[in-house]
Amino acid sequence: MTIYQNLIAGEWVGSNATKNINPSDTNEVVGLYADGSADDTRNAIAAAKAAFPAWSRSGIWERHVILKKTGDEIMARKDELGALLAREEGKTLPEATGEVIRASQIFEFFAGEALRLAGEVIPSVRPNIGVEITREALGVIGIITPWNFPIAIPAWKIAPALCYGNTIVFKPAELVPACSWAIVDILNRAGLPKGVLNLVMGKGSVVGQAMLESPDVHGITFTGSTGTGRRVAAASIEHNRKFQLEMGGKNPMVVLDDADLNVAVEAAANSGFFSTGQRCTASSRLIVTEGIHDKFVAALTDKLKTLVVDNALKAGTHIGPVVDERQLKTDTDYIEIGKSEGAKLAFGGEVISRDTPGFYLQPTLFTEATNQMRISREEIFGPVVSVIRAKDYDEALAIANDTPFGLSAGIATTSLKHATHFKRNSEAGMVMVNLPTAGVDFHVPFGGRKGSSYGPREQGKYAAEFYTTVKTAYTLA
Ligand code: NDP
Repeated sequence: MTIYQNLIAGEWVGSNATKNINPSDTNEVVGLYADGSADDTRNAIAAAKAAFPAWSRSGIWERHVILKKTGDEIMARKDELGALLAREEGKTLPEATGEVIRASQIFEFFAGEALRLAGEVIPSVRPNIGVEITREALGVIGIITPWNFPIAIPAWKIAPALCYGNTIVFKPAELVPACSWAIVDILNRAGLPKGVLNLVMGKGSVVGQAMLESPDVHGITFTGSTGTGRRVAAASIEHNRKFQLEMGGKNPMVVLDDADLNVAVEAAANSGFFSTGQRCTASSRLIVTEGIHDKFVAALTDKLKTLVVDNALKAGTHIGPVVDERQLKTDTDYIEIGKSEGAKLAFGGEVISRDTPGFYLQPTLFTEATNQMRISREEIFGPVVSVIRAKDYDEALAIANDTPFGLSAGIATTSLKHATHFKRNSEAGMVMVNLPTAGVDFHVPFGGRKGSSYGPREQGKYAAEFYTTVKTAYTLA
């Protein structure tokens, strides 16, 4: 089998490899992907450092053309890349193809942003002096990504980093290297100079750790778990390095008595269970007021009965497998914790077999949960959702905000008053009214508050905050 190698200083290198396994069919090896070392990482950082002076001064048209070509090729290959993504991560083919399209749109967006770089010219408070405020590239950016969005998250970090003139050392999650390899290959062929984008696949504890320890990495953008995020933060402070963290969520969806039942059920089913619940914006706490509680639980349970859990590539599958054995164990451990805490298992809870060997888990719904239970406070990152009763809107809002996280929050209501109040008072970075808590656009800011995020927002124009540093220049006329 061919080894998909790392790209360091413009050369494909690496002879040690790790198997990329399909979670829908564990007999299938998606490919062999290089297992980079700490030395590979240091070489990649040196290459990115050497490439920075020229790339940070490159013309905006050159950047535009490379980003545009990349977006175009991703779109032209959406079906092939969608199938690759579904095979390595386990989300369904329509979900995977949708993610590939989104990655293409992100490159298109930042191709446009490259042509819109601008600054400000303002007068000084002192006479005859002018002030220019410009944004300059930060330097070498370390990109560390998780397994749950194998192409969209790399795209939303790589595209702005390049757009604003930075060079990159990119370490994707070891579980899902295939889509990352594909976009690096596309960017490389689109004409990026050697060393501007370096790919080092391998273990977080080796490759990621070497990035954290290097004084030559000027910014780290990280998406993943809270624990690893804390390590990134501690190491970055030591090096006086800029860092940006997107971490977990325990996102609430409030369902009020006046909600449209169909809208509420569709939004809850999508938020909680699609993509196998493996989205940081998934809603795993449904906070439901008394008047609609029983009707809502019955309708959501009926909906769950119709959802097909099967091989991600099979037509008609609504929920693909859990990503790997370790995550499946986490999910089933939490199901046991929920039962032992006294929540009522209303649906699912079982690991199931399908024609192909994989990590299949029924969508799982707990009712009669409290907000103090571990299943309501800790991120599970699987298709496991709790329903919590609230007596009225005020109590529902208080429960929604009573969490260490603050990424996304939703409300299902037909009341303008409550929708408006919730948008204003939810302690989350993103708020959805009558929509799933997951599913965000590529051209507007993404990020959260409290334990979910740290640093500037990602995506859209707001991405410039992280990937650039501001210069204030004075001139005597
Ligand atoms: P991890 O934190 O384990 O991994 C994230 C990345 O960090 C991986 O590339 C991993 O490498 C790497 N890593 C691991 N150890 C180190 C280290 N010591 N130094 C540097 N890098 C390291 O998270 P998962 O990939 O398991 O993702 C699931 C978690 O991420 C969930 O908690 C989820 O909520 C969160 N998440 C948050 C999102 C958000 O936007 N807020 C989006 C997506 C996920 P490797 O795995 O290859 O060893």
